[in-house]
Amino acid sequence: MSKIRMTTPLVEMDGDEMTRVIWQWIKEMLLEPYIDLKTEYYDLGLKNRDATDDQVTIDAAEATKKYGVAVKCATITPNAERVKEYNLKQMWKSPNGTIRAILDGTVFREPIIVKGIDPFVRTWKRPIVIARHAYGDVYKNVEMSVTGPGKAELVCTDKSGKETRMTIHDFDDDGIIMGMHNTQKSIESFARACFNYALDRKMDLWFATKDTISKTYDHRFKDIFQDIYEAEYRDKFEKAGITYFYTLIDDAVARVVRSEGGFIWACKNYDGDVMSDMVASAFGSLAMMTSVLVSPEGYYEYEAAHGTVMRHYYRHLEGHETSTNSVATIFAWTGALRKRGELDNIPELSKFADNLEKACKLTIEEGIMTKDLVALSVLEDKKAVNTKDFLIEIKKRLDKLCEA
Ligand code: NAP
Ligand code: MG
Repeated sequence: MSKIRMTTPLVEMDGDEMTRVIWQWIKEMLLEPYIDLKTEYYDLGLKNRDATDDQVTIDAAEATKKYGVAVKCATITPNAERVKEYNLKQMWKSPNGTIRAILDGTVFREPIIVKGIDPFVRTWKRPIVIARHAYGDVYKNVEMSVTGPGKAELVCTDKSGKETRMTIHDFDDDGIIMGMHNTQKSIESFARACFNYALDRKMDLWFATKDTISKTYDHRFKDIFQDIYEAEYRDKFEKAGITYFYTLIDDAVARVVRSEGGFIWACKNYDGDVMSDMVASAFGSLAMMTSVLVSPEGYYEYEAAHGTVMRHYYRHLEGHETSTNSVATIFAWTGALRKRGELDNIPELSKFADNLEKACKLTIEEGIMTKDLVALSVLEDKKAVNTKDFLIEIKKRLDKLCEA
């Protein structure tokens, strides 16, 4: 069988620890035998980030703008312990944060659904994709303890020096205050990324805030989404047969739990933080969550939602067997390859991505899985396998699907 040809390279961002080990195995066992794999390789492993003063992360993000599609391995975000462990020049910033800032992107997280691993919410039949606005609000706040009595005010000084003032509260006694912000531009980018992704996936889009209480702040989010929808997306949505739906956040939560799933739920920063963990746990496992960063210009960066699985890596280094789940990392590759196939009009490439995803699901549905899933699966006949054997089992099924 001849290998599938690619015309444009994928931006490949390698990473750290157990996921770096798996990365190599996935390429050798599940990709290179089938595809004439073209990638532009960037080593985002912590050693190389340190050696290049983190320039490699910036270069990888710029390359994503050039080629349009990237696939990223999980990477270490250094903390004080890591600085010691790797003898780092400094505590480099989170690569994901750096890439997100350069691409101005929104992160979409989606659970991978397989038979036998049932969502805790019985009505959910299809995935719920969480789109989290990744800028501002409480994550870029300033806060203060107030020693009362005292008056707290909100003051904004414009360029000419003119002040606008509002009283936050007249304190009789001690208390606390907080100031937070967002920007028109960031909310607009968020809205466009959500609308574009909904069209890309042909899924309905839900958005919710607390605009009845927050009549200026949250209301601005609602208005921006509505204005952009009417001006740029209503026709496209109608043609695609999908809908944009806005409601209050509390109503949204109630509806989500009663829904069958199968839509994108756009969330403000804090709501997205909370709801993505809720949705991920309710669907089963972090090892079965994929993640894609989409820029308003339509650049895509695919990855797994989990980290570098450090504990497994140290067992692996000691020569012990591990049972690390590679599904989300494989789906990062298939997401990127399918997108490349669509953009470059190479249907075989997209078809291969579909087959590889099917092979992963079949393996688990036939009772062969990693330890993390054995604990969750309701199948009667199930068997835990090690990291490599799991890939071998996927490959067996992939070969059958490719022959068919
Ligand atoms: P983690 O790598 O997500 O792993 C946490 C635990 O979850 C693991 O110890 C393991 O539990 C389980 N787990 C996660 N993924 C799994 C998989 N694929 N297969 C089986 N089990 C899995 O988080 P962490 O250990 O807190 O963080 C490790 C490093 O990852 C940190 O340096 C952090 O900075 C980085 N990180 C990177 C990203 C990213 O690049 N996007 C995201 C998050 C964290 P058991 O040990 O109980 O088996
Ligand atoms: Mg969180």
